[in-house]
Amino acid sequence: MIKLKGIAAAGGISVGAAYRVGREDFTVPRQPIKPEEVSAQIQLFEEALIKTRKEIIDLQKRIAVDMGQEQAQIFDAHLLVLEDRMLIEEVILRLKQECVNIAFIFSEVLKKYINVFSKIEDEYLKERVADVNDVGRRILHNLLGRERKGFEDLKEKVVVVAHDLSPSDTAAMHKQKVCGFVTDIGGKTSHTAIMAKSLEIPAVVGLEEATAKIKSGDILIVDGSTGVVIIEPDDETLRVYQKEEQKLKGVAEKFLLAKELPAVTLDGKAIEIVANIELPEEVPAVKLHGGQGIGLYRTEFFYMNRRDLPSEEEHYQAYKYVAEEMRPHPVIIRTIDLGGDKFLSQFEIPKDMQPFLGWRAIRFCLARPDIFKVQLRAILRASVHGNLKLMYPMISGIEELQQANKILEESKKELKNKGVPFDNDIQVGAMIEVPSAAMTADLLAGAADFFSIGTNDLIQYSLAVDRTNEKVAYLYEPAHPAVLRLIKNIIDSAHNAGIWVGMCGEMAGEPALVLVLLGLGLDEFSIPPQVIPEIKYIIRSIKLSDAQAIAKEALRLSTGKDVEEFSHLKLRKILG
Ligand code: PEP
Ligand code: MG
Repeated sequence: MIKLKGIAAAGGISVGAAYRVGREDFTVPRQPIKPEEVSAQIQLFEEALIKTRKEIIDLQKRIAVDMGQEQAQIFDAHLLVLEDRMLIEEVILRLKQECVNIAFIFSEVLKKYINVFSKIEDEYLKERVADVNDVGRRILHNLLGRERKGFEDLKEKVVVVAHDLSPSDTAAMHKQKVCGFVTDIGGKTSHTAIMAKSLEIPAVVGLEEATAKIKSGDILIVDGSTGVVIIEPDDETLRVYQKEEQKLKGVAEKFLLAKELPAVTLDGKAIEIVANIELPEEVPAVKLHGGQGIGLYRTEFFYMNRRDLPSEEEHYQAYKYVAEEMRPHPVIIRTIDLGGDKFLSQFEIPKDMQPFLGWRAIRFCLARPDIFKVQLRAILRASVHGNLKLMYPMISGIEELQQANKILEESKKELKNKGVPFDNDIQVGAMIEVPSAAMTADLLAGAADFFSIGTNDLIQYSLAVDRTNEKVAYLYEPAHPAVLRLIKNIIDSAHNAGIWVGMCGEMAGEPALVLVLLGLGLDEFSIPPQVIPEIKYIIRSIKLSDAQAIAKEALRLSTGKDVEEFSHLKLRKILG
């Protein structure tokens, strides 16, 4: 029995036989060609690039459905490699100069790129090496007309053991066939680790000598929560871990039972459990996990990776599809939240010194009503196809909300004049994600039909912690007393004014904090589809009155850590 310690990448326990996945090298035989064959070889190369692009886009779509948009975006970097002019031109130039087969030339250029990048001590560029490697292998396979080896042919469940795994490899893993994976390299936030979490496959990365110590067929225990891997465990160790594995599986199955059931507390308070999406393709995942609607449909995607602006028709078709698919459940479309960390390719906007405090979201829309109205008209037009609502991001005070509503009224008038039908009573909400809005929620409540608390931003603004900066990540505490007090103020103000309140920031999907949020009176939780069953289960396991007592107690604590510990303790009691 050998015990290895690595980095815990994706929680859970798995026991299975090791399946070694070798590192592919790029060795391709060198074959001279005649000068007249050059153009055919170039065509072969172009076809391989097109095929690879299609493969990546298909994979991206599948991942968006299975795991969400964030994971799918990992492959944007791969598409960029495919468009790298320097790489492509070097291959073609060498092909013309050397007159040898294109696959050989490509493999040589690829090796050179990887060598150069690998020597640079920079975390970002290291990730790029992985991208170039991954895409390069795809192109090479397509050039050589080889099929990529997947995991589909496996006969039994295995633990994959590799030096490193690319996001493509991870995405190809099938939950039915792969019960865990371990790698020599990689960190907690590597793309591979993020994907493993979405796939819910226990994983340990950064083990350094996994491939040196493990042979195919060895029995492995993978504890993805502690980062421990045990090779050929003794009977007693195996028994302990198998028991723990069963226990965890039992809990997961318990959650799944709640998937289709309504989220009602033991004393009868009904809560809306809805999902966050960024793409229409994610709708099936929402339904699959028992979502009762969509509480946040982010729409920035329409504006990304393109040079022109999206048309009204393009917006309309997407909204119509989502509204029809989810009908009669509600779908809340968040109007564009461009700026901040969200890339704007088609506007020549000077870079703000502090993009999160700059010209973004509703500020941008109010300054550019021409662009804003295109989206508003599309949402209004789609409102006849289902239960659509809309909300504005980054509202910081009543004036902005009034101005946005005024532009909405103008958009309605434009449609009315043309005789285009729409739901005149469409509900309009304000996202509360700026502390000034949280503090003046009573004033805003008069001009909105509902609130949706955007904790991702509310936390960064109220605690002065850049949400994208790893160095200050330790200060980013959803359970911080300041955040809880702001949330309480928002909910109380809304309820006093007779409107409902949801939450669409990541905090709403934190199992332990759900108890506190429920107790504070939150009416709707908009969360990633994968956590819907668990959150429903938790809500169905507690009385609202008990949650209220937990929230009251949590509000008395003085640090975020105390609140976290306290609510975890309460959750453990409930889940047994
Ligand atoms: C939020 O800020 O909590 C939110 C949901 O919006 P985004 O993450 O898109 O800024
Ligand atoms: Mg936000």
